[in-house]
Parts: sequence; C-alpha cells; structure tokens
Amino acid sequence: MRVSVALFTADLRVHDNPVLQAALKDAERVVPLFVVDSGIRRTGFAVPNRAAFLADSLADLDRALRARGGRLVVRVGDVAEETCRVAAQTGAAVVHIAGGVSRYAARREDRLRAELAVGRRELRVHDASLTVVPPGALTPVGKDHFAVFTPYFRRWESFSVRGVLPAPDAVRLPDDVGSAGLPRAQSLASGSASPGLPAGGEAEARRRLRSWLAGPLSAYDDRHDDLAADATSRLSPYLHFGCLSPTELVHRARAQDDPGARAFVRQLAWRDFHHQVLAARPDAADHDYRTRHDRWRHAPKEFAAWQDGRTGYPVVDAALRQLRHEGWMPGRARLLAASFLTKTLYMDWRAGARHFLDLLVDGDVANNQLNWQWVAGTGTDTRPNRLLNPLVQARRYDPRGEYVRRWLPELRGAGLDHPAPIVDLAEAAARFRERRSAD
Ligand SMILES: Cc1cc2nc3c(=O)[nH]c(=O)nc-3n(C[C@H](O)[C@H](O)[C@H](O)COP(=O)(O)OP(=O)(O)OC[C@H]3O[C@@H](n4cnc5c(N)ncnc54)[C@H](O)[C@@H]3O)c2cc1C
Repeated sequence: MRVSVALFTADLRVHDNPVLQAALKDAERVVPLFVVDSGIRRTGFAVPNRAAFLADSLADLDRALRARGGRLVVRVGDVAEETCRVAAQTGAAVVHIAGGVSRYAARREDRLRAELAVGRRELRVHDASLTVVPPGALTPVGKDHFAVFTPYFRRWESFSVRGVLPAPDAVRLPDDVGSAGLPRAQSLASGSASPGLPAGGEAEARRRLRSWLAGPLSAYDDRHDDLAADATSRLSPYLHFGCLSPTELVHRARAQDDPGARAFVRQLAWRDFHHQVLAARPDAADHDYRTRHDRWRHAPKEFAAWQDGRTGYPVVDAALRQLRHEGWMPGRARLLAASFLTKTLYMDWRAGARHFLDLLVDGDVANNQLNWQWVAGTGTDTRPNRLLNPLVQARRYDPRGEYVRRWLPELRGAGLDHPAPIVDLAEAAARFRERRSAD
C-alpha cells in the first residue's frame, strides 16, 4: 500500500490545495502533516498575533480533515527531521510540499530533499500553491525576475492560470500515526495577541470570501483607499496562512468582471510580484534591493513615538494604533505609516519593517519587506524619492476625520491631549531631499 506525506506549510486548507491533491493521487494513504518548527523566528509565527491565527487555522484544518475521515498529524521539532521520521514510520515514499520563496523556505527544502534522499525517499515541490503565477515563471528577456510592476502585470494578466482543484471527499491515514496535540497559541509565542485580532482558519476565510464577492468587491476600485470606509477585503491573513488559495480568489474575482474585480485582481498580482522578487533576491529581506546610499538617522525617541502612534500627525498615529489593536491595517494606512518613518523621519526601513512583523497578522517577508523597500525608495518604486505629506493624505483619504477619531480617543473629546507634532513637515522634506540628492 502506497503512503505519501502532504506537508502543510503556508497552505492550511483543503480546497484548491495542489499539495494535498498530489499526495492523494499518489497513494492510497496520506499523512496530512504539520510540523511546529522549533527553529521558527519572529519572521514566522513566533509572535502572538500570528501564533493565535496559526493555532485557529490548524484546529480548523484538523476539523476539515476529520470531516473527510482523516485528521491533522502534528509534530514538534525540526521540520526536516520530524518529516523524515514520519515518512520512515509510515513507509511513505514521497513527501509533497508547496514551494516557498524565503531563505527559510529554501533551506527547509534543501534539507528535506537531502535527508529524505538518505532513506531513498523523494521530495516533490508544487510551485503553484502559494501564488497564482509561480515565482520565476515569468521573466523579462535576459533577466531572472521582473523589477518593475507594470510590465510584470501585463505578462501576469495573460498567464494561463491552472484550474481550481476541488476539496477531497476522503482522506485516509495509515494506521497508528502518532501526533502531538494541536498547538495552543501560548505554546507558540509568549505575550498576548491584539484584542481585535480576526479569527483564523479556512472556514472563516470562506465565509469572508463569500460575503466579499457578494457585494463589496464591485465597489473596490472606488473605495479601497477610503480609510474610514474599511472597504478592502481583509483577506490578507487568510492568504498569508493559505487558508484561502490566491488562485481560487483570482478565478472567482475574474468571473465578476467589473472595475472593482479588475482592480482587486491587480492587487493580487502585486502579491505575486513581490514573491518573485524575493525568490530571485532572497537577500532583499534585509538588504537594500537598490541602494540609495542612505545614512539613516538614529533617533530612538522619535522611533518610539512612531511605534506608539504619538507622532502628532493624527492619520499616522491612527494607523499605528490600529496596527496594535487589530494586528492589521489597510494598505493606505501602511503606506502612510511607512512613508512617515522612512522619508519624513528618515529612519531605516528595516526598523519599521520589524515593528510591522512583530504585530501584523498577515506579516510576511515577501510582502512586508518589499513593500517597505518600495516605500523607502530602496526597492522597486520607479519614483523612489516621492514623499507623502500626511496632512494632504488625511484630507484626501479621511476627509471627515472619521478614521482618526475611530483610533484616537483624544480626538473624540475624551479629555486627553493629542501630542504636538514631533517634526516639522517642511524641514523634514528639505532634509530628505538633501540626503537623497547627496547620493
Ligand atoms: C509598508 C507595507 C507593509 C506591508 N506588509 C504586508 C505584509 O506583511 N503582508 C501582506 O500580506 N501585505 C502587506 N502589505 C500589502 C498590503 O498593504 C496588504 O496586503 C493589504 O493592505 C491587506 O489588506 P486587504 O486584504 O484588505 O487588501 P485588499 O486591498 O483587499 O487587497 C487584496 C489582496 O491583495 C494583496 N495586496 C494588496 N496590496 C498589496 C501590496 N501592496 N503588496 C502585496 N500584496 C498586496 C493582498 O494579498 C491583499 O489581501 C504591506 C504594504 C505596505 C505599504
């Protein structure tokens, strides 16, 4: 009897899961495996918000597998060692896994391949699992990746996307596979999660997907930047953990064919774009993609004021307080907050990116680091020295001040004072231009 292992990573779902489907096709018995990697760091799930979301998602995946006659097997330890152990114990010939793009994922893949080979077992990597278009599938002539979004998007739009795979009817495990219990958030990271954190899991993702497609999607083009309207999908954490497949999302949005759906699909292409950059340049996680020879300011008090949402610029402060409260912010708020740190305060994008990764429930290396670099002008933005004025942005995207009042109690007349601005915008703009022109 053939046995294979479906090793879950950032694809915690049963619908449209190429890894699970391939494992089922390959063998009569399948071990759905998740290894709680003891070596995972802050960039992974070892922070309270992502730990809580992961714990929810694993519990939900286990429920979905049990409804099909299976269950989730959980092991704790080193991914390669534990996976090899499970494969050896069950006699599995093949381990299936989704291809990742980070240095961590590359190391995991290399070690798995090498250690499985010792027991004459095979690792099969499925590349169209975590993104719509596999990283590396589209390249400009003579280069290994696209560095500019617009030409990438042109090619991306005409890429023939694989079809959506059904959820399996049945999953049968081999007999006697031992499993640790489902992990609890507290065992994955210390500290408490944000009070307004969304619930994780595929069931919740699909519920949100249905209501998103049924209405708000068609208004996305007009409303996604309106801070008070809260009119974006909020699907990013579900995409990050793979509770929802980006391929399925693109097919379902395209079926709607209106300006809202088209604008939304374009945003999903940004996700793929950053993934293909990171896959080709893994060092962009912590090195400038394109150096501007910045000598960033070191100003711990200003940095702390930024982290705490006390810069004195309400729209920036509201964004950072929302981040603490929900572990999430809309894209416009992320842009404003990141631009304020890197350009107005002229401080290192890495410090800001670390703060985001400590709190964002959707925080991931590709999207976070490369968006930070884009905003800082060290990444793929074709206008690296543009500077966002937070007052102009607030007038444009929160004209009635509803967003800032939602997050800043002091502006609701709560008897508190909003801090005075920590920096003068004109002086900050002059400083930035001077530093960048000295390049
Ligand atoms: C400084 C900064 C840091 C960011 N860090 C992250 C991060 O760690 N993880 C993350 O998933 N996104 C990140 N983003 C991208 C984007 O802001 C979020 O994906 C989006 O706001 C999530 O909300 P939503 O699901 O409602 O998005 P929607 O507006 O509904 O968009 C749909 C989906 O498209 C994708 N998307 C949208 N904008 C972008 C973008 N600029 N880059 C890549 N994908 C995009 C996301 O998967 C998102 O869920 C960051 C952006 C900035 C400017």
